[in-house]
Amino acid sequence: MVFRSLRDRILFFFSLLLIVVQLIAFFVVSTTNFQITEEQNAKVLAVGERVFKRELEQKQQRLLQSARILSADASFQAAIATQAPRDLSAVLESKRALFGADLMLLCGPDKKLLAATQYGAYREMPRLVAGMIERATQEGYAAGVVILDEQAYQLAVAPVLAPNPMAWVALGVAIDETLAASLAQVTGLQVSFLKQSNSAFTLLASTLEEHVSVLQAALGNTDSTASLLVAGYETSVLALGSDQAPVIAVLQRSHQDGMLAFDKLRNTLLVLVAFSLFLSLVGGYVIANNITRPIKLLAGFARKIQGGDYGGKVTIDQVDEIGSLAATLNHMSDGVAKREQEILRLAYADTLTGLPNRAMFNDRLGQAVHFGMRAGSPFTVLMMDLDRFKYINDVLGHEAGDQVLQEVAQRLRSVLRDSDTVARLGGDEFALLLATGNPERVLTAVHKILQVLEEPVILRNQPVDIGGSIGIASFPEHGEEASTLLRHADIAMYAAKRANSGFAFYDSECDAHQQEHLSLLGDLRRAVECDELEIYFQPKVTLEQSNIIAVETLMRWQHPERGLVPPADFIPFAEHTGAIRLITGWLIENALAQCGRWYKQKMPIKISLNISARDLLNPELPNIMRQALDKNGVPAHMVCLEITESALMEDPVKAHNTVTLLHEMGLELSIDDYGTGYSSLAYVKNLPVNELKIDREFVKNMVGSAEDIAIVRSTIELGHNLGLKVVAEGIESEQELAMLKEFGCDEAQGFVISEALTADDLEKWLHQNYGRPMPAVFEMHKRAANE
Ligand code: C2E
Ligand code: MG
Ligand code: MG
Repeated sequence: MVFRSLRDRILFFFSLLLIVVQLIAFFVVSTTNFQITEEQNAKVLAVGERVFKRELEQKQQRLLQSARILSADASFQAAIATQAPRDLSAVLESKRALFGADLMLLCGPDKKLLAATQYGAYREMPRLVAGMIERATQEGYAAGVVILDEQAYQLAVAPVLAPNPMAWVALGVAIDETLAASLAQVTGLQVSFLKQSNSAFTLLASTLEEHVSVLQAALGNTDSTASLLVAGYETSVLALGSDQAPVIAVLQRSHQDGMLAFDKLRNTLLVLVAFSLFLSLVGGYVIANNITRPIKLLAGFARKIQGGDYGGKVTIDQVDEIGSLAATLNHMSDGVAKREQEILRLAYADTLTGLPNRAMFNDRLGQAVHFGMRAGSPFTVLMMDLDRFKYINDVLGHEAGDQVLQEVAQRLRSVLRDSDTVARLGGDEFALLLATGNPERVLTAVHKILQVLEEPVILRNQPVDIGGSIGIASFPEHGEEASTLLRHADIAMYAAKRANSGFAFYDSECDAHQQEHLSLLGDLRRAVECDELEIYFQPKVTLEQSNIIAVETLMRWQHPERGLVPPADFIPFAEHTGAIRLITGWLIENALAQCGRWYKQKMPIKISLNISARDLLNPELPNIMRQALDKNGVPAHMVCLEITESALMEDPVKAHNTVTLLHEMGLELSIDDYGTGYSSLAYVKNLPVNELKIDREFVKNMVGSAEDIAIVRSTIELGHNLGLKVVAEGIESEQELAMLKEFGCDEAQGFVISEALTADDLEKWLHQNYGRPMPAVFEMHKRAANE
């Protein structure tokens, strides 16, 4: 049996214990009672037996007395002497009632029967009675048991003397139900009379009619009637008659009668057991409840804690172990609640800025989407990335970076409403959740943010410009799922960065562009493996002598479906995805192979290779370069690497290290697209570069713009002052060329000289314009190499 509750177990155990104890007590009392009853019965039987014998004896004496009185009666004597036997019977009959006898016999002196009550039945003197008369003749009287006509009698015989015996009178009392009843009453025992014929017993009378068959069976089964065993009775057998009249009396005391008194006791005991059981059950229930109630309370409380509900307290006013357990549980619950809050804080907050972190932002965004779906309320996700954060981190240290992030977090919080969420996702990436979908209000918020970021941050007493690009995606028009909104806000942010516009709303075209880029990535790998890429060479000439001394390699992609793809369509993407390393590797190998071929053919054309920011972060670049130079037998000074300003600014420290290594190998370095980035000449000054390439943006507006002329002139002058060679690129007119020559620019590159050409076309172009083997140029290089 399984009890789930402690209360039921306690109740069951104590009830069982009580029942067992009560049963044992009951059993012990019952057996003791039984023994006592048996002993009692034996005593009662012994006393009854004595009383029985005495009573029977007295009856016999009374009978004898009656016989004597009758025999001495003169009228009776006269009647005997005078009357005929027939009439004597009537006399006897009248006397019988008087003496209360059941049977009267009258015999002559010759011992022959003269008269008898019920005369017809005893015409002859019964032999037994004759025997008794014989005894009476000698002793004066006789008494005993006789059986006459199947009926047993107690018989007393006395002589009628006149003065010699003239007759014998016998008075008999039947041993019958009346006798049995009267003896039973006196002795308090059950009395039965039986006569024996052969070994069978026939009932004469009994106070216990229904028990007779059992008694007879018991008598029939035993040899000695003295030790008779009858179930349920204490039994004693007395022989009353003689061998001629074998009559026995069975005295019995029923065990049940003996037990009567104890039965009462037992019943009282039973009631007591039932009552105490009931009381103990009720009491046990109450006590068990009292014990288990606080435990139940504690268990319920523990369950609450398990379910994460730390709000409540359990109150148990006890000073015992349970009370102290309750107090401990309360402390534990408080402790766990505090720790959980701390864990939650750490799990959902950004430790640096105190803003919600990515997990919390995702959670709130999920809720906003859920709510937006149900109630149709719009909202907007903004993704913001700080410009120049990496630069600040690398140049000014992580502490400064942390300070900037904290300052930005605080500024963002100050311009937004409490209902808006500002989170830091990691690095310099912030995400905002605005509780509005209205574009005007979103723009107001975005302008406020950009405005507040315009203010420089003071780091080590120096004002440092920060700024941010924000991508905007609104629910539901830019996405109905959290992940889509985040992705679209991200795409918009990159679009804003590219366009340098501060912010941009998500535009599905941007996304299409991205998708297209994704398929491009696979294509690009194949392009490198299957040599779909081609190198074009654009000549650079000296402005002084119009000599060609170098070419810039420009990549083209012969796409099997799209045709010739210009580098602007795949290089930025390759840079973004990291595929640029493959392309640069391919470029170095193939461009240097071409350079080596020309060099061996006595056409020592210097080549300029465009190198991306990612390449500069690749620590293997110097090695790759060295192997390519060695393999193709190209002297290091024949190769110039063009690096854009932005590439240098992405990770200035690493870029500086790589550039230094390359410079030490003997390679030349050029700052490409100079003027479009943020670097200052002060920074360039510290780099081991040889050349500045003024971007086409300035050159193309030079004619007619005094401002651009000033920029170009000052750049040329500054470059020269720093000992750098200055190259102008994107020159499309003779006029521009003339102006640059006048300003002292060293070299020029542009359509006015030549477009980018294939290696074969370049050779033809060289042949047409300079004729082989270009002695002047060759001599120049040889000199440079010797120097
Ligand atoms: P860049 O290095 O500044 O190259 C000069 C670009 O100006 C070339 O465009 C060239 O064809 C173009 N150009 C030259 N002269 C004139 C002119 O007179 N007028 C005009 N309008 N344009 C002129 P391209 O070939 O389309 O290359 C664009 C940019 O792609 C390059 O700018 C360079 O940054 C990048 N790039 C090209 N090839 C490679 C490469 O192999 N590796 C890397 N990393 N970047 C490359
Ligand atoms: Mg270039
Ligand atoms: Mg350029």
